[in-house]
Amino acid sequence: MAGIMFQDITTLLLDPQAFKDTVDMFVERYKDKNISVVAGIEARGFIFGPPIALATGAKFVPLRKPKKLPGEVISEEYILEYGRDCLQMHVGAVKAGERALVVDDLIATGGTLCAAMNLLERVGAHVVECACVIELPDLKGRERLNGKPLYVLVESH
Ligand code: 5GP
Repeated sequence: MAGIMFQDITTLLLDPQAFKDTVDMFVERYKDKNISVVAGIEARGFIFGPPIALATGAKFVPLRKPKKLPGEVISEEYILEYGRDCLQMHVGAVKAGERALVVDDLIATGGTLCAAMNLLERVGAHVVECACVIELPDLKGRERLNGKPLYVLVESH
């Protein structure tokens, strides 16, 4: 889109040491936090979420765009700059009282993370934190997270 700078994380994945260091930083932070579920947001949360889940002993739950998950789902719609979008989660994948970490590659306006947290909280889970590789702080997405902690590795202005 004209005037929009897209932050591309695929170059990071080309460097195995850099990819490993990135995952390790998250694992170091969450390994003793009693996280039972890592919820990864489609699509790039599926790159960083699973290795964090494996290393911390948590299960991985994908939060997907509509009509991708085969089972019964709950849905959360959210507003984008241009239009609407929706995230879905399998019913029964996360139980009340579970401790969840939400993972995505990047936070811009915060709408996507907000919808993800709503899904988890609707089934009674406790969102411990949201974790992203990159934050675009100028878009003030952090302010939309209702005080929920956000951990990022890099800020991009
Ligand atoms: P938000 O809902 O915070 O405005 O947007 C964040 C979502 O859009 C994330 O799922 C993220 O993957 C995607 N996104 C928005 N802008 C970018 C970008 O510049 N680079 C990447 N990799 N993803 C982006």
